[in-house]
Amino acid sequence: MQPAWSGSTTRLRLRHEPGLGVGLRGGASGGGASGVKGVVIPVTPFQQNCSLIWCERSMKGAVVDPGGDLELIEQAVAEHKIELERILVTHGHLDHASGVVDLAERRSLPVEGPHEADRFWIDQIPDSARRYGFPPARAFTPGSASTPGRWLGDGDEVTVGEERMSVLHCPGHTPGHIVFFHAGMRLAFVGDVLFRGSIGRTDFPRGNHADLIQSIRGKLWPLGSDVTFVPGHGPLSTFGAERESNPFVGDAVLGAGSG
Ligand SMILES: [Zn+2]
Ligand SMILES: [Zn+2]
Repeated sequence: MQPAWSGSTTRLRLRHEPGLGVGLRGGASGGGASGVKGVVIPVTPFQQNCSLIWCERSMKGAVVDPGGDLELIEQAVAEHKIELERILVTHGHLDHASGVVDLAERRSLPVEGPHEADRFWIDQIPDSARRYGFPPARAFTPGSASTPGRWLGDGDEVTVGEERMSVLHCPGHTPGHIVFFHAGMRLAFVGDVLFRGSIGRTDFPRGNHADLIQSIRGKLWPLGSDVTFVPGHGPLSTFGAERESNPFVGDAVLGAGSG
């Protein structure tokens, strides 16, 4: 939750499509006939980057981190004529997950993610919603009778239409945080693990700074410097750009190649 970046450099203007937030395209592909497309829709008072993504062949899609403002998400779904298939959740914080139950019920969608270690965060969503002045929100358990779906972990795959994304467990900001990676599009949805110019907060209960650094260096960097990522807040960037200049996890800060 929270605007999690600590620097002042990440609040750049996103390139907005009419009413919809920023357009999304994979780093390497561009205009191919297949792949995923998407739009980023900042939602909630925390301007969390909810993403609507879809398979270009089937026009079936998924919502990543519906933290709230469901009318904005529904507007994008209608505008792009997407057949929603599922909800994907990076972690259990309020601004990423407080709209999950409402959207899942309204559209009869399964919920996939986060890792089960974030269950304690999800259980706090109703209280957190009151505390932060969000609309009433409910907790959920992926894979339960009331919420079809599943918890996710390292090595799992999720599908979006005919497209596949792999799941990486990236603890640190929260213990059950996961990242979705589309290898062909060189595109990752990293939630609050990494931002342009910053990293996720680790001062929450069960946050862990060393784990976060290890998640970024040990799991994200090996995916490739050409990978574009959608962070939970603020503008998009690439892993390569962050390795060059991120003041928390850049190679110059941590020493390239060292443990
Ligand atoms: Zn957040
Ligand atoms: Zn968070």
